Amino acid sequence: MTRLLPRRPQRRRGLLWLLSGLLLIGGLYTVFRVQLSVPPARALAAGHDLLTMRRVLAVVAHPDDLEWYLGGTLRRLTEQGARVVVIVATDGEKGPNRTGATDLAATRRAEQAAAGRVLGYTRIYSLGLPDRGASQGPRLLAEVQRIYAQEQPQAVFVFDPALPALPYLHPDHQGSARIVLDFWKNLGAGRPPVYLFQTRRPDVAVDISSVIDLKARALAQHVTQNGGSAGMMPRLFAGDGRQVGVSYAELFRQLR
Ligand SMILES: [Zn+2]
Repeated sequence: MTRLLPRRPQRRRGLLWLLSGLLLIGGLYTVFRVQLSVPPARALAAGHDLLTMRRVLAVVAHPDDLEWYLGGTLRRLTEQGARVVVIVATDGEKGPNRTGATDLAATRRAEQAAAGRVLGYTRIYSLGLPDRGASQGPRLLAEVQRIYAQEQPQAVFVFDPALPALPYLHPDHQGSARIVLDFWKNLGAGRPPVYLFQTRRPDVAVDISSVIDLKARALAQHVTQNGGSAGMMPRLFAGDGRQVGVSYAELFRQLR
């Protein structure tokens, strides 16, 4: 009996830890869950408007970012004849290497090109900036300025640096977006709208149900990262689809 006595406060402390852990998870879920800021019909209408763009520019950090977050939208744009130009800042050489590729950077660049062929991108600029250092130094901004001037896009896509959705955050994602947005803000009147992806407060929804298979096939090109499978992607984007009453959707937050 005497040996049992000290255990009770310990058990109580364990319960307290468990409770505070649950509260923390609940709080994080409430703050970070993806929640539309407009009614579903309005988000879908804004998605229709987005699909009328004829020239778009997307800027991401790594091979597979495009296909994971907005490949369906980019495919729908290319199907409508839009010019889809993309900038991939790094070759993701610090990412996983599931095939044991000897030159991971070159292999991942080739995988990105293969994914781009599946979705019909017009042009891919692979900048080869250092993985985990994409937003350090002047080169990303200089390339964005040059390509922007050349392409004159009607819409720009970047990660959401201010209200990102969980679970995956990466310094190159939010960092590259901040560089592009600083540049964009200085363009002044007449600048094109920006569509932020991986956002937790979307107000634009693009129905990607007709192209989900192509999106999965494009994502599967990144074999060194995902072993040739689209993994959880379709399930997650079905969840986004449920928010607006379609089978699969990609969600964005628009800045004007
Ligand atoms: Zn990434």
